[in-house]
Amino acid sequence: MRRKLVVGNWKMHGSHAANAELLAGVLAAKPYLADVAMCVPFPYLSEVAVALTGSHLLWGAQDVSAHEQGAYTGEVSSTMLAEFGCRYAIVGHSERRACHNETDQLVADKAKAALAHGVTPIVCVGETLAQREAGETEMVVKRQLSAVIHTLTHCIGEIVVAYEPVWAIGTGRTATPEQAQEVHALLRKQLHAATPHAGGMRLLYGGSVKPDNAAALFAQPDIDGGLIGGASLKAGDFVAICRAAA
Ligand code: PEP
Repeated sequence: MRRKLVVGNWKMHGSHAANAELLAGVLAAKPYLADVAMCVPFPYLSEVAVALTGSHLLWGAQDVSAHEQGAYTGEVSSTMLAEFGCRYAIVGHSERRACHNETDQLVADKAKAALAHGVTPIVCVGETLAQREAGETEMVVKRQLSAVIHTLTHCIGEIVVAYEPVWAIGTGRTATPEQAQEVHALLRKQLHAATPHAGGMRLLYGGSVKPDNAAALFAQPDIDGGLIGGASLKAGDFVAICRAAA
């Protein structure tokens, strides 16, 4: 039985005051029956770590460098994240693939760098609307995951995968539970071919998950929780989604 995982992705939102209010609201509603984590902008890692220490809630970053250290201005390594007690790092979010030209191989290298220092990568895959309408969903998500499988080899079982159809992110348009399950089943099958641990791996769905659609998505057999963007910024909504994952 896989324990559900709900991860908030704050994206580039936050302030000291807003973070304190949001964290207080999420903490006030614990305990949770699912694992809950928040992936926050780098400057806020320290305060989030302090606020969540001892709470069983976990925290993470929204990106990580593929490099260990050196002349990579603006990048943050997994060694640094590990120092903050970061449990997770999102890699390959569609906003980074699109705005920062991240390739499948770079995403795979980032996932490898994260794992090397005990930070679990949450690897995002997903098709655009044009790709879905062209019938390319399976090909695209398998290609994206394949790069990670070939780079991580025997460690692949240690990652979390998030299926995030690009057309559903921040648009209010959610994949139906059946559409999401169909892709999750494909991804699980691909992982089964790569590792004996695929049955225990957590595959998250992301894309306009809200309190009113979360339970139906999380009830699907291969959906093990969610990666939550906009709704993770409102304590009440995020708490309701975490409860739907019980
Ligand atoms: C995300 O940013 O990963 C995401 C899924 O965003 P939203 O929930 O706002 O669609």
